Amino acid sequence: MALRLYNTLSGKVEPFQPIRNNEVRMYACGPTVYDYGHIGNFRTFVAVDVLRRFLRQSGYTVRHVMNITDVDDKIIHNAAHAGLRVQQYTAKYEKAFLEDAAALNIEQPALVRATEHIPEMAQFVADLQKKSCAYRAEDGSYYFRIAKFPGYGKLSKKDFAGMEDGARVDVDDYDKDNARDFALWKASKPGEALELGETFDLHAGGEDLIFPHHENEIAQSESLTGKPFVHFWFHARFLLVEGEKMSKSLGNFFTLRDLVLKGHKPSSIRFLLASVPYRNQLNFTFDGLKQAAVSVERLRNFQSRLEVGQFPQGTTEPMAELARDTLQRFRAGMEDDLNTAQAQAAIFDMVRKANAAIDAGQLKKDDAAVLLDVLEKFDQIFAVLIDDETEKMKKILEWARSENREKDVSNALLKTVDAQQLSDAAIEQKIAEMEQARRSRKFQSSDAIRAELTAAGIVVENTKDGVRWKRK
Ligand code: AMP
Repeated sequence: MALRLYNTLSGKVEPFQPIRNNEVRMYACGPTVYDYGHIGNFRTFVAVDVLRRFLRQSGYTVRHVMNITDVDDKIIHNAAHAGLRVQQYTAKYEKAFLEDAAALNIEQPALVRATEHIPEMAQFVADLQKKSCAYRAEDGSYYFRIAKFPGYGKLSKKDFAGMEDGARVDVDDYDKDNARDFALWKASKPGEALELGETFDLHAGGEDLIFPHHENEIAQSESLTGKPFVHFWFHARFLLVEGEKMSKSLGNFFTLRDLVLKGHKPSSIRFLLASVPYRNQLNFTFDGLKQAAVSVERLRNFQSRLEVGQFPQGTTEPMAELARDTLQRFRAGMEDDLNTAQAQAAIFDMVRKANAAIDAGQLKKDDAAVLLDVLEKFDQIFAVLIDDETEKMKKILEWARSENREKDVSNALLKTVDAQQLSDAAIEQKIAEMEQARRSRKFQSSDAIRAELTAAGIVVENTKDGVRWKRK
């Protein structure tokens, strides 16, 4: 089996095959940096990150380019309103976006900023004009003439056949030859494609971009080069919040920062965003987010149990088989159009069975190593076990203070940042392991666990009633 992906262009799930042997060239639409990124945006960015990571795990070299829209009508308007130059205005949001993406363990693609490609853009428009695919309207804007591109509509499956050149449908569009002709200023930047070549493997974004944005990209690129622009079109379904379309007026609009200020960990958010396969509708709820936090904690506890636990030498066939089966199910899920739900289910079955084996004293040392290896493969994609999120949450806390948003900082966030993010359950677990080690006279191990807890701000005391602990 190999990776199969849904291709919006063909409307089918197809075997994924890059153009060049071992290299995948992919392009993803990045943010428009006029505000902080919301969880809908990050739903799509996490989906693309999962794809990128899985391609790499599958042995491909991935060249991944993402554009940052740092100039458009809205940005110009907002910057003027704030009395700032465009770049001054966008710099803050670009920085915040990159920090948020890093908090979610999204690997950073090569970035292409719109403002850094203005000359190529002008050249691109001039080339299109030479081929009479573009024209200058009375208002000074340049438009793409869709009558010159018969394939228009092939991505979004819209039928434009009945539309005549020169049809005037919309009074606002009186300047255009055809109401569907689109302004090239607003269309995508040619610099994007230049980074990857005239034809590349995969183009990704949220489903809202299929039409007109991506349809327009195909039209302008293919009419210029005469070559297919992109082989695979990958679109993530829009996220809902508590069953509704996210909107500021409904009060269900959340930036990533809003959630972190409420005390939610980036790992819980990432886990939740990745848990629903990208073509299914993810309904974001706070219950779901709490569940996700529990799931991540369960995985982390399992990992530390395997790492710290003392097991007899050797290996057992049931655990070796469990590791093999899990890996096979995990890969089969991911290869099936990135079925992340199946991949996660496989791992949680493994955790349940292996925990039962540990409880029954049936797990051996080499089993632990093999199971940890499976967990690592899982985390190469899901990236929730990496334990450096306190620092990232601290950064967001500092930002809130600098933006006078102190009132939005929850106690939960302060507690997490202070307590170095060890949950009660994780502490109990470590203490149980410490006691186990002490009873088996493995004092080096028990001391190591105690030191680890102390470093995390947990005070451990031995009393006549047993071990007690408290946060410093
Ligand atoms: P924007 O900053 O609006 O240009 O959007 C950045 C990315 O987020 C694009 O790929 C959008 O398609 C995607 N996006 C925006 N809203 C949502 C949503 N509610 N669910 C999933 N993806 C979204």
